[in-house]
Amino acid sequence: MKVTGDRPGKGTYICMACGKKVVIESDDDKLPVCPQCKGSMFQ
Ligand SMILES: [Zn+2]
Repeated sequence: MKVTGDRPGKGTYICMACGKKVVIESDDDKLPVCPQCKGSMFQ
């Protein structure tokens, strides 16, 4: 599980609360809060 503020690396992460996909395009980018439900846990 990844949380908002982690730098998980490039890839697609899925909000555990609502299923929204969040794409990280740079290894330096932090996971945002979910744009749909403001959730902070991703897989
Ligand atoms: Zn969500």
